[in-house]
Amino acid sequence: MEKFRIKSNYKRHILIVDDEIINREIIGNFLQSKYEITYASNGSEAIDIIENRENKFSLILLDLFMPVMDGFELLDIMNESGLVKSTPVIVMTADKSAEIKCIKLGAIDFITKPFDLPEVIIARCERIIEFFEDKNLINIAEKDSLTGLYTKDFFFEYIRQINTLSSSDPMDAIFININNFHLINELYGRKKGDLALKKIGEKLLSIANNTLGIGCRIESDNFYFYCSPQDDYADMLKEVQSAFDCCDNHHKITLRMGICKNITPDEEIEIFFDRAKSACDTIKNDFTKQIAYFNNELKETSIFNAKLIDDLDDAIANNDLIVYYQPKYGILTDTPVLKSAEALIRWNHPELGMISPGKFIPLFESNGLIQKLDQYVWEQAAKQIKAWKEKYNKTIPISVNVSRVDIYDLTLEDRLNQILIENEISTSELMLEITESAYAENAAILVSVVNKLRENGFKIEMDDFGSGYSSLNMLTSLPIDILKIDMIFIRNMMNDAKSLKMLELILDIAKFLHVPVVAEGVETKEQLTILKERGCDIIQGYYFSKPVPPEEFTPFIEAML
Ligand code: C2E
Ligand code: CA
Ligand code: CA
Repeated sequence: MEKFRIKSNYKRHILIVDDEIINREIIGNFLQSKYEITYASNGSEAIDIIENRENKFSLILLDLFMPVMDGFELLDIMNESGLVKSTPVIVMTADKSAEIKCIKLGAIDFITKPFDLPEVIIARCERIIEFFEDKNLINIAEKDSLTGLYTKDFFFEYIRQINTLSSSDPMDAIFININNFHLINELYGRKKGDLALKKIGEKLLSIANNTLGIGCRIESDNFYFYCSPQDDYADMLKEVQSAFDCCDNHHKITLRMGICKNITPDEEIEIFFDRAKSACDTIKNDFTKQIAYFNNELKETSIFNAKLIDDLDDAIANNDLIVYYQPKYGILTDTPVLKSAEALIRWNHPELGMISPGKFIPLFESNGLIQKLDQYVWEQAAKQIKAWKEKYNKTIPISVNVSRVDIYDLTLEDRLNQILIENEISTSELMLEITESAYAENAAILVSVVNKLRENGFKIEMDDFGSGYSSLNMLTSLPIDILKIDMIFIRNMMNDAKSLKMLELILDIAKFLHVPVVAEGVETKEQLTILKERGCDIIQGYYFSKPVPPEEFTPFIEAML
């Protein structure tokens, strides 16, 4: 049990409720070397004290017979408010016959009057306090077997207990992550990866000793650390980083750290660690920085994000999310022809106005809500295909964006098929755009999902090609039907010979593979001409139209009838 014990530097507080001064003094004297003591002379005074105290008492010692409000009545009130569940009560009595009634009211133990030996009473109080503190912790898996740090659940329960016991001195919440941890696993094997995590665990445990700190590993290579405020976190980072000094890896392991300072523990503690993490996320790809502090700007972003998360369901229910459509034109004919459209979401928020997807798509991708949003967009797009088909007797295929989160969802194909069935459309009419970076992230899984979708008849467009790290080489082995070149290329090709050369190369390879190419972000006639001369099949961009709501899209259809 010792391992569960909350650090002893926090002095517990005991409330002694007895109307007789002599009794209060005797028992108080026994306990005062180990505990902080507060006295009350009857039940009503005790309630005032409990209600006005910020922190919890670790134990209440209660006399039964007192004027104004007796011990039974106080127990009754504590029982009703649920207080007896979190604060143990030991009844001090000379009357054996009252015990049953007290137990029914939630008392946990008895001390008989006249009092036993001091040692017996102290031992009893100690045992009951430990028992109560352990009770909450005992059900939770305590340690992460790899690092020796606490598990997340235990970590938060532990902090909550510390906070109910000690006065609210400010503390700091810290998030630590290994840069590109997956690379260590991939290059050197999982064993090396595990060793790195273990070493961080060891370092954090030793730092915890000097900083009144406690640490946990939340998952993978993410660590939380909670400690008294430090003047210089560069020192702490250096100390953790030194875990790798001895390693003969060719790959230098580096860490990054996000800090949320001077937190007041009366609020929900998890929020502060979310903030530390969001600070850390701001330096994710910036290798010149290793430490980031949570600040006001981030606070506003996190409040804004929390609002978006809260409001998503309402937005769907109230049609505040509107699907816009941007036309794609085939340009290899003399006059451009409307080929299809891309569905792009817009959020017309009742309080915040029009919000661009750049503000909420990455957020919803990070917490999985994107699936809900994508499902909604797919349904709307399918309805739109059906509606235009009925109205114009013609299919305008629509491409929808499929987020990387959707790819890992085993029900993806069923969900898509269901939408097709409900709207009586086919797989050739609803096309799927998958961003290049999803291919690069986990090529094996993605390829198998995409292969299945293609077997089912879906057309897959690789979106944002060239924006990530994929190589031209990859193109030859990946299952795709259409290649969508990222708008960065289009922007750069005008004034950068290398970009233009690259674009020509991509177009050549695509032609060789018989894969049509879409260029997106085309804004000028000049860009269109360059692309047309080099054999690019389809163009999407402001040159033809911005994404527009369905009613503004119909003129494009009507123009080609
Ligand atoms: P994306 O899929 O690459 O979409 C193309 C983006 O380029 C759109 O931005 C579009 O409005 C913009 N665009 C098109 N032509 C031009 C142009 O000529 N010039 C410029 N400057 N921009 C142009 P948007 O609508 O803001 O969407 C941004 C991103 O948000 C999209 O990038 C896509 O990744 C994501 N997104 C939008 N709707 C959805 C959705 O329903 N589901 C998912 N998962 N992602 C979506
Ligand atoms: Ca797209
Ligand atoms: Ca794109």
